[in-house]
Amino acid sequence: MSFLDFMQATPAAFIGLCAVLGLLVGSFLNVVIHRLPKMLDLDWKRQCAELRGETPETQERYNLLVPRSACPHCGHPIGAMENIPVLSYLMLRGKCRGCGAAISLRYPAIEAISGALCGYAAWHFGFGLASVGALLLVWSLLALTVIDFDTQLLPDSITLPLIWIGLILNLGGTYTSLHDAVLGAIFGYLSLWAVYWLFKLATGKEGMGYGDFKLLAALGAWMGWQMLPLVIVLSSMVGAVVGITLIVAVKRGRDIPIPFGPYLAGGGLIALFWGHALTETYLQLFAH
Ligand SMILES: [Zn+2]
Repeated sequence: MSFLDFMQATPAAFIGLCAVLGLLVGSFLNVVIHRLPKMLDLDWKRQCAELRGETPETQERYNLLVPRSACPHCGHPIGAMENIPVLSYLMLRGKCRGCGAAISLRYPAIEAISGALCGYAAWHFGFGLASVGALLLVWSLLALTVIDFDTQLLPDSITLPLIWIGLILNLGGTYTSLHDAVLGAIFGYLSLWAVYWLFKLATGKEGMGYGDFKLLAALGAWMGWQMLPLVIVLSSMVGAVVGITLIVAVKRGRDIPIPFGPYLAGGGLIALFWGHALTETYLQLFAH
């Protein structure tokens, strides 16, 4: 019996494997979330310097792999044993081994959320391509959510490949037909683009960014155009709940812009897992 046969025949093993993979990739997502915006920033500065005809200052290499992870307070390099998802945080009691500075709860939280969502995706879709795709989507949406929350950016290097991967997965109809996927990408982009321009013409302000259009295009490419209204309704609901919680609990001011990307990502995840069930329930309500 090959490894894949065993995974196919043993759902519990497949779910466990995906959950562990989710924890490990969650740890890498923390690196992406921290470094990708800085990498973009360095890149823009380098391009600006080139445009001004200046020789860009020689920079140390900075990417997702180099330099190695270290404590931001004391520079203590993070060894393999201190890098085990969630467990290391618990063993170190949330403190750096070098200087004792608190480690943000965000790191183990992202690892745990990634592990839980990946295990759930494996249970929900079962052994096969739909689960593999769901893991990719979960990781991308998690990274986009936190990056957008931190920096109000949805990097093209995540949103654009997500559109292509969604279309490719649906070549064989993994989540929806290719026809509905292509229309989903087009309508996803155009619907928010239209809202953006209406809002801008009416108020002179920019309510959201182009990253939001690309993210909704990606969700349309993954799930088909039929899911777009549900994604938007769910995003608004997630946004309302989180927005009210932030204003009440953290006394966050009403005027601080709250990025739309995290809500789109949240709405997208709910639609991925429960979209069909929700649409059916909702259509039944109208049928009676
Ligand atoms: Zn330290």
